[in-house]
Amino acid sequence: VPEGDTIFRTARTLAQWLEGREITAARTTVASLPAAKLVGRRVVAVEPRAKHLLMRFDSGVVLHTHMRMTGAWHVYRAGERWRKPAHQARVVLEAGDRVAVCFNAPVVELLAKRGEEVHPSLTRLGPDVLVDPLDLDEVRQRLAIRPPTTPIGEALLDQQVVSGIGNIYRCEALFAERTHPSTPWSSLSAQDVDRLVTAAARLMRANLAPAQGFDREFGGGPGRHYVYNRAGRPCYRCRTPIATAKLGEQARDVYWCPTCQPDASLK
Ligand SMILES: [Zn+2]
Repeated sequence: VPEGDTIFRTARTLAQWLEGREITAARTTVASLPAAKLVGRRVVAVEPRAKHLLMRFDSGVVLHTHMRMTGAWHVYRAGERWRKPAHQARVVLEAGDRVAVCFNAPVVELLAKRGEEVHPSLTRLGPDVLVDPLDLDEVRQRLAIRPPTTPIGEALLDQQVVSGIGNIYRCEALFAERTHPSTPWSSLSAQDVDRLVTAAARLMRANLAPAQGFDREFGGGPGRHYVYNRAGRPCYRCRTPIATAKLGEQARDVYWCPTCQPDASLK
């Protein structure tokens, strides 16, 4: 599951190998993508925007990939064996001795110059949780137009409120701040909301250290999850079995400790 920190690392690695380089060959399985337009162009920047990745070229066009749950970019030496099957490659960009391959991304498109400024799913994004300083005022303003009963656990995953937080960091941030995922956001103070978003940012930044594997996931990383994916196992703090449920419109699994994160509505 790509989280904001994974996209951030991906962008950094792509930038390291591609920035300033000319694309020498480009192939795609996406019929609508005019990949040939990229050949002979130089990559000027690679930027993460929540779960989106923007690769800018000297002609002004931007290659936009949205990773959702399945997408990944890898960079290989020319001739090196790929770690995913070739038929999953949606875009292949060659730049001299390096090959950048985008696997399984559900959205792959070329945006015209300044196209991103009018792109619906890019302009609607809330502040990026990994941008420092984090715009907490903007996050709270965006939260304020959500229904007051919206659970905070759902709001933290709402990319239009704050972008880049995935399920793992949503769960871990709620545990860190001892907040039950179903708590309506409107029953929290501004400080509570700021603390939760800041906790997610802090946990994600702690995972930005250089990765071994290019698309490494949190699970093999430093530290262990307190609650994420630990249903039924004892809380590291209090030994209560970790609970799980589906939460929100997307019905993503949420995990929490019923003792450390009591449900305020049951009091
Ligand atoms: Zn506990």
